[in-house]
Order: sequence, then structure tokens, then C-alpha cells
Amino acid sequence: MVEKVNYIRYDGRKPDEMRPYQIKTGIFRNADGSAEIKLGGNWIVVAVYGPREHFPKAQLSQDKAILNCRYHMAPYSTSERKSPKPSRREIELSKVIKNALERAILLDQFPEMTIDVYIEVLQAEGSTRVASITAASVALADAGIPMRDMVVGCSVGKINGQLVLDVGEEEDKTGEADLPIAIMPNLKKIVLLQMDGKLTHKEFKEAFELALKGAMQLHEAQIKALMERVKEMEQFGDSR
Ligand code: ADP
Repeated sequence: MVEKVNYIRYDGRKPDEMRPYQIKTGIFRNADGSAEIKLGGNWIVVAVYGPREHFPKAQLSQDKAILNCRYHMAPYSTSERKSPKPSRREIELSKVIKNALERAILLDQFPEMTIDVYIEVLQAEGSTRVASITAASVALADAGIPMRDMVVGCSVGKINGQLVLDVGEEEDKTGEADLPIAIMPNLKKIVLLQMDGKLTHKEFKEAFELALKGAMQLHEAQIKALMERVKEMEQFGDSR
């Protein structure tokens, strides 16, 4: 239960309220799998290719597939034009996201192969890493890549002493702490846990529980998107 403090969020949300969200899958014709997430002002698309043969052969892994992950923010995704070149932050986030997804994908079923995950942030408004993971897992499922479980992420922040669910950009900039997490919801395993700022032990526990609550809501949206895709394919075939 989030304690009530006299703090009003910049967008009028309750402390334990997510921004509006929508997940879609099967959005690109040419990729093996794809998905889109809109979460508040975030708009992120993901394309997956593979499993495909790994090149160059000298660098393949003989016991499992190699997962490549690229998180990229479009130059027009932020209010100030962002350089199209990958920044240090994007390189780091690509690795963080890869580490989270790697825990779920059954890479050992595809030795000597490669799976590519391309994440494009078209519009950013805070918590893009967890939104990217949430969409990437749907795109992987759309590509038919076997996974132990879906992966879904959510963030909690602390601002003016108040814990808040699903941290927006303003809250990220002005808050005292930010806790992005990602989980495998059915296996109940954590695959990403980061923290910026400071939380007491009690706050951390509360924040984590709140983030889980948000993640479970997004997980329902993941399932809904995949079910809609199955229905669409049953009705019209793969009409991308
Ligand atoms: P996350 O997006 O996972 O919260 P950060 O905490 O690094 O990751 O970024 C917080 C927010 O700051 C981003 O979601 C985005 O809205 C904004 N942001 C990130 N990089 C830039 C940038 N180069 N220029 C402007 N805004 C940015």
C-alpha cells in the first residue's frame, strides 16, 4: 500500500497509477517478429530477426545462439535533437536489455545461430529501458522464439518523499530515486534490477512491490497483444 503524501504528479496521476499504455505485435512485414509499445509519451518499436546463421563463422558460439541487442533513440525522440550516433548510454542500455532478455530465451536450442533484437525509441518520456524490454519480449514471442517466460519491466521512483509508479521523464529528472525492474512474471524471477538515488530498506521493499504491480498490468497487455495477433492470423493469415 503506497502511503499518501501531499504530492501531486506533474501529469495528475495517482502515485500508484501507470501512464496509459498499449502494446501491439506483428507491426513490421519484413522482420521475423515485431512489436510496438506506447507508454505515456514513450513510443518504441522493436524488430526481431532470427534465429539465423551466425556470421562471421569464426565468432559463432557452438553451444548456444548469440543474442544481439541494439537500443537506439531516434534523433527526433527527445525535445533537443539527439545525435544519431550511439551514445555511451545507448551502448550501456543495449547491454542491460540483452542481459535481461538472455535469461528468458532458450538460446541453447540454437547453437551456431544469431538472434537480433533492434529497439528504436521513436519518442522518449522516461522509463524507456523497461518499456523496451516489455516490447522486445513480445517481438521475440511473435518471432516464435522459445522462451522460459515473457519478460516485463516497470519502474518506480521517489519524488518529494512519495513513491510513484511508472516514472515519467520529469520525475526522472527531479526525483530522489529511480528503480527500474524487469521480471519473468510466471517464473517469478528478477532479470533486471537497477537503482539510481537512495531509498530506505522499507521504501525499497514498498517500491519493489509497486513495480511488480505495474509489471503485472503490463504483462496482461503483452498477453492481449499476442492473443490478438493469433486471432488475426487465424482470420487473415500472416497479412503483414
Ligand atoms: P530510462 O529511459 O530507462 O528511464 P534514463 O534514466 O537514462 O533511462 O533516461 C530517462 C529519460 O531521459 C529518457 O526516458 C528520456 O526521456 C530522457 N533522455 C535520455 N537520453 C536523452 C537525451 N540524449 N536527450 C534528451 N533526453 C534524454
